[in-house]
Amino acid sequence: MKKYDVAIIGGGASGLAAAIELKMLNADISVAIIEKNDALGRKIRATGNGRCNITNKNANGYLEIMKWLLKVGIMTRSCDGDLVYPYSESAADVVELLIDRVNELGVDVILNATVTDVEKNNSGFTIKYGHGTIDAAKVVLAVGGKAGPAFGTTGDGYAIARKLGHTVVTPIPVLTSVECEEWDKEARPSASSLAGVRARGVVSLYSEGSKLFEEAGEIQFTKYGLSGICIFNMTRFMRYNRAEGEELDQFKISLNLFPEGDISELMSVTGTEGRDALRTVVKKELADYVMAHGIESIHNLTFTPSAIRGWKDAQATAGGVDLGEIDPETCESRLNEGLFITGELLDYDGPCGGYNLSNAWLTGLKAARAIAE
Ligand SMILES: Cc1cc2nc3c(=O)[nH]c(=O)nc-3n(C[C@H](O)[C@H](O)[C@H](O)COP(=O)(O)OP(=O)(O)OC[C@H]3O[C@@H](n4cnc5c(N)ncnc54)[C@H](O)[C@@H]3O)c2cc1C
Repeated sequence: MKKYDVAIIGGGASGLAAAIELKMLNADISVAIIEKNDALGRKIRATGNGRCNITNKNANGYLEIMKWLLKVGIMTRSCDGDLVYPYSESAADVVELLIDRVNELGVDVILNATVTDVEKNNSGFTIKYGHGTIDAAKVVLAVGGKAGPAFGTTGDGYAIARKLGHTVVTPIPVLTSVECEEWDKEARPSASSLAGVRARGVVSLYSEGSKLFEEAGEIQFTKYGLSGICIFNMTRFMRYNRAEGEELDQFKISLNLFPEGDISELMSVTGTEGRDALRTVVKKELADYVMAHGIESIHNLTFTPSAIRGWKDAQATAGGVDLGEIDPETCESRLNEGLFITGELLDYDGPCGGYNLSNAWLTGLKAARAIAE
């Protein structure tokens, strides 16, 4: 059986960062990446709508990440404020460069290999995948969470981590759209008439009267509910535990679709009334919907969420391996010496804007540096 110094399980953002950094720091370390898919970095290709929002100027470890990106040869630029992208704005370019680095540095890549078990032995770990087994002195578990299962992330890491004694905070899909009860109602005009409409406004989330979240941005009305970056970010605050009987209807979403103005003042200044006053404030379908709820509802149009779109649509996982069981400087398990847990498998989730990839790169780098030492 082949024995490696380090086995990296999962060839996504975090696993690739760990493998490349390890070999750059010490070319003599033998490293294998074991990846379930037939290619490395499949999810990275889909990030940022194919543009790869690679990091954010406000992300934890931003400078360290930028130094590393430069070291491996990824040129970046910031667009849309603090959001950082590869200069070519191509996620495919990033993946192809990372794969080239992995090959140039002599990392062994085992593809089409789904790891089912990691067991401790006298000198490290035995890793079982498909019909193969390898031994490694150290393991980096970088299999991601459950969001975007089409990219290989189906939550396999939770069972592996639990078996090694770790606690897993219940994983929940976040950074996704929300379905709302109003879309099922027969009222006229029905909320489903809003499908395809976009509006800029402020989204607020309430639970039992307390405001949990507020963000301004573009709100997209879909055929089932609400979407858009600010709605995605809102889902990070919709933690609930169905097992304990909590349901989503504890939450209320309020949209202020005229945050810069006051509708009563607008009517008195312009001499317009009712529906006429809304003509250049929001799109026609939305104006009709607002009027059905009273013109003042332009400042507080409320919706009741009925579902968060599931794993298939989600961009990140909230929950995961309990951070209290991981050394934050090295990502080494406090329960299993030589086991490092990185990326989205950990109980970390960030908002849209490059924070989740930042966490994946940074934790991969931390593990690699600790191992190389
Ligand atoms: C559509 C989409 C767009 C996104 N856009 C952005 C963005 O622009 N910016 C941003 O910051 N974040 C974005 N994210 C989130 C970001 O991609 C993830 O947070 C990040 O990739 C997590 O990195 P990771 O290495 O932990 O896991 P992943 O990148 O998910 O990689 C995990 C790897 O492990 C493999 N694997 C899983 N199970 C096994 C197993 N049993 N055996 C072997 N291999 C296994 C998987 O196939 C996968 O290749 C986006 C997510 C999605 C779904």
